[in-house]
Amino acid sequence: MSRTPFIAGNWKMNKTMAEAAEFADAFKKQEIHSKAKMAFCVPFTDLAVVKKAFEGTEVGVGAQNVHFEDSGAFTGEVSLPMLKEIGLDYCIIGHSERRQYFHETDESCNKKLKKLLNESSIIPILCVGENLDEREAGKEEEVVSSEIKADFEGIPEELAEKVVIAYEPIWAIGTGKTAGPEQAEKMCGFIRRTFASLYSQEAADKLIIQYGGSMKPENAEALLAEPDIDGGLIGGASLIPEKFAAILNAAK
Ligand code: PEP
Repeated sequence: MSRTPFIAGNWKMNKTMAEAAEFADAFKKQEIHSKAKMAFCVPFTDLAVVKKAFEGTEVGVGAQNVHFEDSGAFTGEVSLPMLKEIGLDYCIIGHSERRQYFHETDESCNKKLKKLLNESSIIPILCVGENLDEREAGKEEEVVSSEIKADFEGIPEELAEKVVIAYEPIWAIGTGKTAGPEQAEKMCGFIRRTFASLYSQEAADKLIIQYGGSMKPENAEALLAEPDIDGGLIGGASLIPEKFAAILNAAK
């Protein structure tokens, strides 16, 4: 089964609007000779700027979160109708930083996935992964399968297969520690088998699974060469046009 690689940047809480526009100008000058799909998931304040800057190009644009209600007394939150008006392609759901610092739960991830899948064509990028204690206790598969089962609860196959899953071991995010290609492949293969057991082999064969956790130009080629790793979710290295372009070019 051939799947088109997908490399997405997660800018986290970085770049003002002026910096975002400057980044877009610099990124458009990079030589990209990869057929991989690409996108940047940027802060809410940068969405319209980045969307406009990449209009008419192959670059997709995504948000990093969405609320599951349409409107109401949810100070500081942003709703799906607000995102739809910008014309976004992607939205990250359940990033470990949101789970850790903002009490995002599998239950809220499930509601957000349902909201996006039922009411928009915005593709969710669902993040799952174990922390260091869980990895050291040998519980990584248990943690990841429990997240996947809870996050996809009640979502039918025809919608579930639109989701991109990012395997992000928390101990490798922003730490400079990367899961080795074999370690990352083992977990991405496990995620595909878990998805097949929930849905079907056919759906699992189509599923795009990214690896995320200190991916950079130096390690991207080896990670992306693994059969179950279909792309990357890139934090730090997505802030630098040359580095993100080099990762894209490593995706064959
Ligand atoms: C991320 O934010 O999803 C991520 C993987 O970050 P980094 O590449 O900086 O580890």
